[in-house]
Amino acid sequence: MSLNEIIYKFENIVGSSYVIHATEDLIAYEYDGSIDRSLPNIVVIPKNTKQISEILKICYTNQVPVIARGAGTGLSGGAIAQNGGVSIGFSRMTEIIEIDPENHLAIVEPGVINSELSEKVSEYNLYYAPDPSSQQVCTLGGNIAENSGGLHCLKYGVTTNHIIGMEIALSNGDLVWVGDKTRESPGYDLRGIVIGSEGTLALATKLVVRLLKKPETVKTFLAAFKSISDASEVVSQIISSGIIPSAIEMMDKLAISAVESSINPGYPHNAEAILLVEIDGLHEAVIEESKDITQIFKQYDLLELREAQDEKERINLWKGRKGVLGALGHLAPNYYLVDGTIPRTKLVEVLEKINQISKKIKLPIANVLHAGDGNLHPAILFNERNTSERDKALEAGAEILKICVEVGGVLSGEHGIGLEKQEYMPLMFNQSDLKSMSNLIYAFDSPNFNPNKIFPTGKKNITEINQSGIISQSGSEIFI
Ligand SMILES: Cc1cc2nc3c(=O)[nH]c(=O)nc-3n(C[C@H](O)[C@H](O)[C@H](O)COP(=O)(O)OP(=O)(O)OC[C@H]3O[C@@H](n4cnc5c(N)ncnc54)[C@H](O)[C@@H]3O)c2cc1C
Repeated sequence: MSLNEIIYKFENIVGSSYVIHATEDLIAYEYDGSIDRSLPNIVVIPKNTKQISEILKICYTNQVPVIARGAGTGLSGGAIAQNGGVSIGFSRMTEIIEIDPENHLAIVEPGVINSELSEKVSEYNLYYAPDPSSQQVCTLGGNIAENSGGLHCLKYGVTTNHIIGMEIALSNGDLVWVGDKTRESPGYDLRGIVIGSEGTLALATKLVVRLLKKPETVKTFLAAFKSISDASEVVSQIISSGIIPSAIEMMDKLAISAVESSINPGYPHNAEAILLVEIDGLHEAVIEESKDITQIFKQYDLLELREAQDEKERINLWKGRKGVLGALGHLAPNYYLVDGTIPRTKLVEVLEKINQISKKIKLPIANVLHAGDGNLHPAILFNERNTSERDKALEAGAEILKICVEVGGVLSGEHGIGLEKQEYMPLMFNQSDLKSMSNLIYAFDSPNFNPNKIFPTGKKNITEINQSGIISQSGSEIFI
């Protein structure tokens, strides 16, 4: 079937306003939050599951690549159509279908924005726990595909712990439920398999999400340190004391300076690192834990220890952390945000190595960490118009990920593998591991869903591959 025939069929399903195919319009869909860029051939924006099913049937019959797209904030290239194909946008599937306050559940469409769900259920004193820093814009469908984490996932767990069931669309257009409203479901845990599969196995079309009761008491501390190693040690000490804060976030001096020059949440300028530590729960327990945490802080020569006095101050402290990536724009035109996870006890060692890499490549690296989880986000600052800087940033990112794996960590804490890290997968997995994972694509019969992502293609540098125009694993043009 020709491109024009497919466009015509899609227009009959969703209406011509929701089928985008002119190059100048497609440009808005060529990127996500990562470095790579590539144009889809068509963007189609369905309104409901039935339309998705019909679109998928056409794509399946014609072997057309399908790339799901939420808000395009992904940081590993998941929503990029690197081989062309059909990008299915979820921006019209934003309905909160049902809120069940008694059972602490909601059924929602995948285009719902993460923070909007918490706002909508707030009147029932409930909220949705996973809170990526991008939560004001990213969608729950994207969160599922990446198994996203967030600032408060240390205590409450990541996306997979909060989705108990899903309606999914298979590549041939069939609709299937995996999991449901009850917490336990017999048979294979297909829900668990689809979550984190980065749009390669199925498209999520309805979600049953778990809601939590808002905590009775919340306390938030800002601690400013003279050295990043002291801050790292405190993280390990808090966790080994048995307290599980809802969040322990760290930012280094460069990240603080970016935030202070734009958002200005009042972080101490002279600090080498700050920690934001939040504890929540029943009032008495929080009071006890705050005393214990304060004792740990006091063992160190802090520049400042501040406790948010009210909700306004608490929100202000978090505003800086949540806005840090945008704020990096004050320091450089681009950043390459690395996402690796290491054992917490290795924080000091790995941060020192990152510092050495920064000196070696002569590019600044700002460190932002979900420190409690050992999840590092070194942001390598560069100018993408300078190709040498761009190459150095990519090489440094690879080196950092290698270090993460060497110290017993993993390639991704929350941003997924996508295009960005697929070539590094052999650092963690052997051929049999990779084969057993990739066999799922055949089990789901989904080779046209987000093709050639996650798994290594054997090419060293995916960015070079895209730039040189090699467009598929087999070397043949997949689409039309
Ligand atoms: C400033 C900033 C801060 C961030 N902070 C965090 C953070 O704290 N924690 C974190 O985990 N991530 C973070 N991210 C990364 C990103 O926001 C998350 O990965 C998010 O889940 C992506 O959602 P999205 O709607 O933008 O998805 P997209 O980028 O559009 O897509 C991401 C992946 O999801 C797939 N997908 C989308 N919808 C569906 C669907 N319905 N069914 C199946 N697959 C689908 C796509 O194909 C793609 O593979 C941040 C990004 C930015 C830019």
